[in-house]
Amino acid sequence: MVNKLYDLAKNKDEVPASVQEHYNNLKFDVTECIACGNCEPRCPFNVRIVDVMLDAQDLLGNIIAFFFLIINLVETIFKIPELLCKRYIIHL
Ligand code: SF4
Repeated sequence: MVNKLYDLAKNKDEVPASVQEHYNNLKFDVTECIACGNCEPRCPFNVRIVDVMLDAQDLLGNIIAFFFLIINLVETIFKIPELLCKRYIIHL
């Protein structure tokens, strides 16, 4: 839904009020995305979803929500070594 609302708003001079209202009423918004990237390999259209989430937050979100998205992104980056270890290192 975030992608759809972002697509509806991104080429307008102003975000249409109806689009902003829909975004504001979403049960889950961009801040729920932890920027793990798991969805991107499964997208048949090769949408760079994490980038879209960040752009959507710029366009539709507020600064506090953007702060939480960045925190989620940083947390994910720090988890990458742990995830790689769990996946590729054989336990001795
Ligand atoms: S990157 Fe994709 S799979 Fe991961 S939390 Fe965000 S939307 Fe969900």
